[in-house]
Amino acid sequence: MPLKTKCNECNKKLYVPSKFAGKKHACPHCQAMITIPDVKRSNQTTRQKFEPKPDPPPNIDVFCNRCQTQLSAPNDFAGRQIKCPKCQDILSIPDRNQDNEPIS
Ligand SMILES: [Zn+2]
Ligand SMILES: [Zn+2]
Repeated sequence: MPLKTKCNECNKKLYVPSKFAGKKHACPHCQAMITIPDVKRSNQTTRQKFEPKPDPPPNIDVFCNRCQTQLSAPNDFAGRQIKCPKCQDILSIPDRNQDNEPIS
């Protein structure tokens, strides 16, 4: 059964054979060496394993400060900047990871 993990370098999802658990494996996308989590150990400590996580919406809505046009930026642009197609102004896309932090 393949293990699901994520490359720290290129952030791509990876599926690696379970024999690599706890070992290092080269990312097929960027060739970076990543450490595969050891499943046997995490099974005992992780309780929320099957808790479903809601998928984030595919696009981030952002408004142009200059012309007020609503733009839909792909998730990949979170934390980056895009150019408004109407007025060519540079807009900053909010980083969704920060939005997910619990509000206390
Ligand atoms: Zn990679
Ligand atoms: Zn604009």
